[in-house]
Order: sequence, then structure tokens, then C-alpha cells
Amino acid sequence: MNILNIEKINAFEEAIKSYYQEFRDIGLIIDEQPDRLHEFTDLASVQLLSRMMIPSEYNDHPFIINNTKFYGLTCIERVIGTEWLSYGDAGVVVGCPGPSLSGIIIQDFADEQQKEQYYSKLLSKPCWTFFALTEPNKGSDAMHIETNMKKVNACDGQRLLNGEKYFIGNGTRAEIGVVFARTTTGPIGIEMCLIEKDSDGFSAEALDTLGLRAPKLSRLTFQNVRINEEQIIGRHLSPLKRGMHGAITVFNKMRPTVAAMALGVSQATYDYMITNKKNLSLDQQQKLEHFQNELITTRNLIRQAALEVDINPRNGYVGSIAKVRATSLVKQITQYALDLFGEGAFFEHPYLNKWFRDAFAFENMEGTSNILKLNIFQSYMNGKISYV
Ligand SMILES: Cc1cc2nc3c(=O)[nH]c(=O)nc-3n(C[C@H](O)[C@H](O)[C@H](O)COP(=O)(O)OP(=O)(O)OC[C@H]3O[C@@H](n4cnc5c(N)ncnc54)[C@H](O)[C@@H]3O)c2cc1C
Repeated sequence: MNILNIEKINAFEEAIKSYYQEFRDIGLIIDEQPDRLHEFTDLASVQLLSRMMIPSEYNDHPFIINNTKFYGLTCIERVIGTEWLSYGDAGVVVGCPGPSLSGIIIQDFADEQQKEQYYSKLLSKPCWTFFALTEPNKGSDAMHIETNMKKVNACDGQRLLNGEKYFIGNGTRAEIGVVFARTTTGPIGIEMCLIEKDSDGFSAEALDTLGLRAPKLSRLTFQNVRINEEQIIGRHLSPLKRGMHGAITVFNKMRPTVAAMALGVSQATYDYMITNKKNLSLDQQQKLEHFQNELITTRNLIRQAALEVDINPRNGYVGSIAKVRATSLVKQITQYALDLFGEGAFFEHPYLNKWFRDAFAFENMEGTSNILKLNIFQSYMNGKISYV
């Protein structure tokens, strides 16, 4: 992994900051009518984000600053880019076309043919993707998913995919994505497959959500969808190095990014209060100073987490701590902002209304705080980390 030096990281941050306004301008529109996102795929910011995480072999249009090409393949690029675009609007960030979560799977586990299939779709037009792990009754408990992929007969590699996935980002508009399904019992009996939206037996239906509405969380249904051997991702790897190992890799690499979304919304809320609320009492000034310090320490923690993951993707603990902290901050600050502006704020300040609703979505992405705290505690107790 190419680790960027501090000058390049700073240049990247300065350049990407200027893109937030386009997301801010369309955030409320997309929140109300998520389908209108298709009207904005020509925006420079949307184009930029949709090409992030496409590697150089397939990507002729990276983000170039001072002759350095940025592909969004390092976690540090992703947390900085995501923070500032989420400062504009986090819903649009999650709702944008591009690789997102499934991109990590393709980059790290797919074979050349699967990469060609996936990236060529992404480059031909604005193309959404999905990552389908969660099920109606299996969220945090992902090890026990029930969607299954059984062999049609013993002598060929054909399988039938059956089951249901729930809360899947961009599921109704995605062209291609990754599905996790069980081929046999036990933790290594889970495989990943690459599937296109026009496969027979595959359907997607949008769910109605209160926060982060742009990605149109969806229910995906698979009824006897035929899966060939070539669609199984990571079949060239040992069972321990694919399947659920893929999901864990995605979570480790993307958890700091979710923390960065929460931070971007927190910073936007803080700046909104500073700009729009005059004549603050002493108590209010002190509370805002407290939030300002929290923003700085949370940002430092997220960036430390990103650098750790870039050195070794198994170093996910700091990312877990950063995400717990960032999701706590965003819930506190968005609630405080509504209280600060008083009765009627929910209706008179549409951005505060939206940011408050969005704040609760981050909690459930890439591990809830309860589960992350359990993991952090277990890692501390068995000596994998020396501090919390
Ligand atoms: C905006 C958004 C986007 C998403 N995108 C995707 C996506 O693209 N693909 C995908 O596969 N999924 C996606 N999800 C789903 C997400 O991964 C799940 O919501 C998450 O895994 C939690 O699962 P759950 O909602 O079933 O809650 P549950 O697992 O049922 O948890 C409910 C509550 O119980 C607590 N809890 C659960 N187990 C324990 C335990 N053992 N000890 C203590 N507390 C516990 C949790 O902390 C939580 O507070 C998305 C969710 C959101 C909100």
C-alpha cells in the first residue's frame, strides 16, 4: 500500500474541501426526493466521488493535485475526502454512484475477470453498486446469516441463491454488487458472489427511512438465482481468507470512513450554530468550546485510525474507538443544536432537522456502538490492544 506523505495529504485536503458546497446545495432536495439524485450525476463532486476507489489499471481520470494522482485507495484519503463531502451532505455521499463497500471486496478478493466485469460497468456511465450482508433477522449477528447458495447438482459448479437482504444501500439503483450467502454450516461456510441486477430471480424494493434517505436503503430478494463458479469471489483463496474474512476486511477499512461522515455532519452543525446563533450565554459558549475540542480530538483519532489501517488492515481497533466516539459526538451535537435554537427549530432550520435525523444512521453502519465496545473490551482483555 502506497502511504502518502503529509504534504500530499494536506494538498488533497485543501483541494477536496472546495467540493462540499455542491453536496450541501442538493442535500435537502435529495433527502426529500432521493430519486432526483440521477439529475445530479454530472456535478464535478459526484463525478469525483464516483471514480474514487477505482484502481489505476482501470481509471484514467483520477483526482490530480500538483501532479499527484489520488485514487481513494488509502483509508487516509477516504476519511479526509468523506469528512469534507459529508460536511456538504452525508446522505449524498452514501447515495453516490461508485464502488463504496463492494469496491473493497473487488479490489482485495476478486480475480481479474471479475475486476474487469465490475470496473468496466463503473466506468461506462454513472453506476451504483451494493454490498449485501445484513438480513431482516441478522444484523450485528452476521456470522449466522441464512441466505444460502446450494449446489444444483454434485458434478458442476452451478448454485442457486435464495434468501433476503435488508437495509442495503443503493440496492434499487445498483447495477452490480456483492452478496454474502451460506454454502454450508459454520463460520467458514459463507461465500461472496458477484451478481448483476438483471439476474433472473433477483428483485429490489426501497424501504422508507427517516434519516440518511439518499441511498434508498433496500430489501433485496433472491429466488433461485443461478450462480456460476466464476461469480464466486475469492475462490482462488483458502476458505479462511475469503467469505466472512471479506466482510471483516471491509469493516476494518471502511469504519473510519463512517466515523468521518459523522464528523463531517458534526462540524457542519457546529459551524451552523456559530454562524447563526447570536448572543450566546456563558453556558452556551462553554458548551460550544467543549464541542470544538471534541471535533479536534475526534478528527485526530479518525486520522490515526486510518493510518493504522493503511499500515495493516487488521489494525481495526482504533477505527472502532474512533467510530464509537464520532457517532456519540454527532448525536450529542445535533440534539444540542436543536435545543439551542429552541422551540420550532425542527421546522425552522431544515439543515438541523436533517442532520439530527442523519446522525442516528451512522450508529448502525459498520458495527453498532454496543458491538464495537464489546470488541474493544475483548481486545483489551486478551492483550491485543494496550490502551482504550
Ligand atoms: C444508513 C445505513 C446503511 C446501511 N447499509 C448497509 C449495506 O449497504 N449493506 C448491508 O449489508 N447492511 C447495511 N446496513 C445495515 C447495518 O449493517 C445493520 O443495521 C447493522 O449491522 C445492525 O443490524 P440491525 O439493524 O439488525 O440491528 P441489531 O443487530 O438487531 O441491533 C439492534 C440493537 O441491539 C444491539 N445489540 C445487538 N447484539 C448485541 C449484543 N450481542 N450485545 C449488546 N448489544 C447488542 C445493537 O448494538 C443495537 O443497538 C445499513 C444500515 C444503515 C443504518
